[in-house]
Amino acid sequence: MPTATKRDYYDLLGVPRRATLKEIRQAYRKLARKYHPDLNPGDKSAEEKFKQVQEAYDVLSDSKKRQMYDQFGFYAENYPGGPPPGAGAPGEVHFDFGGFDFGGTGGTSFRDLFSQLFRGGMGVQPEDMGPAPGSDLEYQIEIGFWEAVRGTVKKLSITRLDHCMDCRGTGSVGGAPQVCTACGGTGHVTQTSGRMRFNITCTRCGGSGRLRTICRACGGEGRVRRPETIDVRIPAGVQTGSRVRVPGHGSAGSQGGPPGDLYIITEVQPHPFFERRGDDLYTVVPISVTEATLGAKIEVPTMDGRAVLRIPPGTNSGQKFRLREKGVPLARKPGSRGDQYVEVQVVVPKPVDERVRNLLRELGKLAPDDPRKDLFARAGV
Ligand SMILES: [Zn+2]
Ligand SMILES: [Zn+2]
Repeated sequence: MPTATKRDYYDLLGVPRRATLKEIRQAYRKLARKYHPDLNPGDKSAEEKFKQVQEAYDVLSDSKKRQMYDQFGFYAENYPGGPPPGAGAPGEVHFDFGGFDFGGTGGTSFRDLFSQLFRGGMGVQPEDMGPAPGSDLEYQIEIGFWEAVRGTVKKLSITRLDHCMDCRGTGSVGGAPQVCTACGGTGHVTQTSGRMRFNITCTRCGGSGRLRTICRACGGEGRVRRPETIDVRIPAGVQTGSRVRVPGHGSAGSQGGPPGDLYIITEVQPHPFFERRGDDLYTVVPISVTEATLGAKIEVPTMDGRAVLRIPPGTNSGQKFRLREKGVPLARKPGSRGDQYVEVQVVVPKPVDERVRNLLRELGKLAPDDPRKDLFARAGV
């Protein structure tokens, strides 16, 4: 019985169930470019996605395969009971029932057998494919710098597979399943090929012996694509690339399977003044030569507004000062915060005025400190 392996091909390509061949082709090209192994070297998940997209396109771009997929929710390779022994490469129709090869040139062709078994089969499908969990969804959103620091609530419009209202997610209407007309409820049919007779599992009911009438609203899938607007709470402290999980908001499961989850991937916009490293905020603040030399009390921006920073006498450019608990509120420890670091940058005055120049010359004489006195010793030359 297929379980987690069941994938919705329309979901994979992101196209509606009524998509035209052209739309399917366009969606495929776009995704194939995105996940192409050449463009994602060493990325296993991209490679897997590329294969899935190929598989989906392979089925949906072929009208016969698509018809079967639409009607039964799977394509031959995913047939109940697992792939037939000796099944060919994905996309290749190659059935081997009990040692008889119908895909070859001899004997009954698969197409004959297929049409025989499915004759009059429109509107019905095998009962119960078994519950399968819904797939997870991923959405990327951009959020502001402070929204990421403080946390926020974002409205998000998503489209996901939701339970079909018409059939309450069962995919079938009209009450209890009926006895399969192809096998009379036994789940097996006898096939003849030349003088050979053999028993095979009834393809019409998948061996269950029962048929259900498929729901028109969802084509038997039990799920329909539906747009939805949800409020997503983004916790404080997310960074670019953080994944916020919204449980149960992925695609609905099929046949009563649990829904998938929705993942929000955040992209945080940079701030022109504040830089965030973990829980700390980094800032660069200019000070004058006089403030650096004599010391000063200056006002600096923090996320709470203005704060006073004491600059000690003899401060150099590049020196960092810490403002305790002025950083990012800690999501893991409510009430606690990171720190803010202020790096000062000494701005040298442009000595346009003759008086200023004279005062600086005076200063040079009064404090004949050589900042390079041990430079060559340290450099070793
Ligand atoms: Zn339905
Ligand atoms: Zn049957």
